[in-house]
Amino acid sequence: MERCPCCKARLGGAILCPRCQADLSKVFGAEQSAQYWLAKAIRFWEEDETEQSLKALELSLRFKKTRLAFVFRDFLIHQQCRVILDLLTQKQWLPAKQWFYSLRLLLPHSKLLQQMHAFTDYLLVKNQEHAKSLYSRNQFNQDIIELVDPNCK
Ligand SMILES: [Zn+2]
Repeated sequence: MERCPCCKARLGGAILCPRCQADLSKVFGAEQSAQYWLAKAIRFWEEDETEQSLKALELSLRFKKTRLAFVFRDFLIHQQCRVILDLLTQKQWLPAKQWFYSLRLLLPHSKLLQQMHAFTDYLLVKNQEHAKSLYSRNQFNQDIIELVDPNCK
């Protein structure tokens, strides 16, 4: 922070504003906490701890909404969408859905995630209908056999 948020005076590193005397110690504290948690978020990401990384990032954004934190969050969202797309192409519907639940708690307002989630639900339902139709076809065949030959059981 270079200028006082109250009167826009140059601070030059001072905690008390030289013009309006505003005590900015808490603002500086929040700024430092935001940097601390953002650094932690990036470190967790490097260690493949995505969930921890998202939690640390959320904390960082609560202290201060910096451009860097938003850029990192967008990057994480796109990366996680790719993970989910991979699960979907492998027809791993349920793991994809479970992954969404934990992501949506951490990134509730991501439009991209909301759209991906709806798409996953669509695939899940479609897949269940397909399984159901397979089941009823098998059941139908079974009924036909029993009708033709009641002693086949
Ligand atoms: Zn001031």
